[in-house]
Amino acid sequence: MRPEILFPLFAPVRSLPGLGPRLGEAVAKLAGEKVVDLLWHLPTGLIDRRYAPKIVEAIPGRVATLTVSVGAHRPPRIPRLPYRVLCFDDTGTIELVFFHAHADYLMRMLPEGSVRVVSGRVEQYQDRVQMTHPDHIAAPEQESALAAIEPVYPLTAGLTPKPLLRAIRAALARAPDLPEWQDAAWRERQHWPGWHAALTAAHAPESEDDLAPETPARSRLAYDELLADQLALALVRANQRRLPGRVITGDGRLLAKAVAALPFQLTASQRTALDEILADMAQPVRMLRLLQGDVGSGKTVVAFLAMVRAVEAGGQAALMAPTEILARQHLATIEPFAKAIGLGVVLLTGRDKGRARTEAVAGLAAGTVDIAIGTHALFQEDIEFKDLALAVIDEQHRFGVHQRLTLAAKGKATDMLVMTATPIPRTLMLACYSDLDSSRLTDKPAGRQPVDTRVLPTARLDEVVDGLARATAEGARVFWVCPLVDESEALDIAAATERHAHLNMRFPGRVGLVHGRMKGPEKDRVMADFADGRLDILVATTVIEVGVDVPEATVMVVEHAERFGLAQLHQLRGRVGRGTRASSCLLLYQAPLTETARARLEILRQTDDGFRIAEEDLRLRGAGELLGTRQSGLPAFRLADLARHQDLLFAARDDARLILERDAELASPRGQALRVLLYLFERDAAVRTLRSG
Ligand code: ADP
Ligand code: MG
Repeated sequence: MRPEILFPLFAPVRSLPGLGPRLGEAVAKLAGEKVVDLLWHLPTGLIDRRYAPKIVEAIPGRVATLTVSVGAHRPPRIPRLPYRVLCFDDTGTIELVFFHAHADYLMRMLPEGSVRVVSGRVEQYQDRVQMTHPDHIAAPEQESALAAIEPVYPLTAGLTPKPLLRAIRAALARAPDLPEWQDAAWRERQHWPGWHAALTAAHAPESEDDLAPETPARSRLAYDELLADQLALALVRANQRRLPGRVITGDGRLLAKAVAALPFQLTASQRTALDEILADMAQPVRMLRLLQGDVGSGKTVVAFLAMVRAVEAGGQAALMAPTEILARQHLATIEPFAKAIGLGVVLLTGRDKGRARTEAVAGLAAGTVDIAIGTHALFQEDIEFKDLALAVIDEQHRFGVHQRLTLAAKGKATDMLVMTATPIPRTLMLACYSDLDSSRLTDKPAGRQPVDTRVLPTARLDEVVDGLARATAEGARVFWVCPLVDESEALDIAAATERHAHLNMRFPGRVGLVHGRMKGPEKDRVMADFADGRLDILVATTVIEVGVDVPEATVMVVEHAERFGLAQLHQLRGRVGRGTRASSCLLLYQAPLTETARARLEILRQTDDGFRIAEEDLRLRGAGELLGTRQSGLPAFRLADLARHQDLLFAARDDARLILERDAELASPRGQALRVLLYLFERDAAVRTLRSG
């Protein structure tokens, strides 16, 4: 149960004064649904309104706060022109300029003959001094309401600075004093303020320097967030360790048969990873292991062999994928190998209904089915395993800790293997996923060709299309990925549809289109047409990122490559170069490129080592590039910047470890405060692992 002291922070943002439904929705979309989300919405700039010169001294271009007498109003002669209000002080005159003005509003705000304080950017227009749309207009007695230094927050469409500022102030006013959860000696050494003071300071920058992630206030808040995360992970892990596990071993005969039935040799790192996994499974504790490796590095095969061991030990195994396509892909990889050694495999996705599903469900309950592959549908209420010994989850970052826990509950002491194709930098791996052990596939199966990667401006699109005409004439198959325009799926799809139409004119009837809004069977049909060669070109939004094994595909075109995260581009590129033929990847960018974007694309050109790319991604990703964080598979932090706060991350990890060594149940006074911290950062699931949680 969330502590009462936090209740005000978990009310909906709409409950804040001055936010009606419309503004409330805009604020929620920008920062989050709850009041606490506004606390984490930190300023990215500031406006200094302390500069208060006389009119004649006001420097054009600067924000100034002027005390003026209001003179004549000059409504425009034609509506297109601005409304002007003449103002003066004892040194000169200034015109306040308003476009699309409401005369009665301006009459009310600026009555002729009154004295007003106006604040905004001073401009020089021909020989006149003017201020267009002052940010603030106030009577002199209200001047103090006009903050001397004003924080500037990131905005979203439909939201102006004033209501957001008001909402954030209101949210801050609701922030209670919370008990200190940080170690006193550590906090003192860091010269960090208390939580409330840090929050207040972070929202009240007095200079540009105060906006840096390294300030005491921001460091403190970042550390709080990291500590909550580390502590949550450590609790989940401790819980995992505490629960009885089971020993999963076998005589090795079935496993040996499975290995012998593979039409290839395992790579060295596949063998190492498999050994690590089998060793975990043989331990009487619950396995929670991450298997990392690039697309095509052979993770599914390793997972399959671990599943064979589970079956050999008399149990069942399940593999859960984030999407339908990916589940089918896994089935395609695994089923032939499983059949070869006589194992029963079923597919369970949201789309399967009727007899087939009923039979599959019955088979799992009776234990006649050994391996289930599917989506979330695998873990619906009505699905029961006779004895689920191993659960494999693909694409870990799409499922949170919470889902991991739900999934584990399906079996008795089920071992868990998580697979991800998003390489996570080693340092971050240690810190961010410290609840998981990890194995890495670092070498590629033999016979793979490196992908020739080129970076080109979109201006050369016609040349690219000409090149495709030559390549497809020789039988090449092409992925064409359309840009992620913004958060809007509709816009992404529009762009892909347009590109599809454009390419289809050049290659009539040979171009397919897939996107996230298409129905499953429709999508499957297009994919199948592409896989079977009835289509030469497949235009796609990023849905192909996580699936689709078409070894014949040898060309990958990515439009607006500059908008994708490095890790994501690397994943996309992994879709080609899977067969034995030479492949190429064309990264098209919209000029001009920023320095960072250029450096990023350059790295892709230089290397196809996913782990190195991940390190570079982290190094180059600026603080503001949320997009990159989201797509790189790293957990998204609100206050901590994983590139800038690495030291804090490691400190938080050690801190969390020490805390649990001394006070595993978080029962001491500091422990109680730490519980509040966990709830503050919504790590509720972790608190529930405590006996007295
Ligand atoms: P991942 O799951 O990492 O994307 P998969 O396990 O699906 O990779 O393997 C990709 C393809 O490579 C599959 O067709 C698989 O049969 C094949 N493969 C896996 N391991 C090897 C290997 N050691 N040698 C040759 N081919 C392999
Ligand atoms: Mg696979």
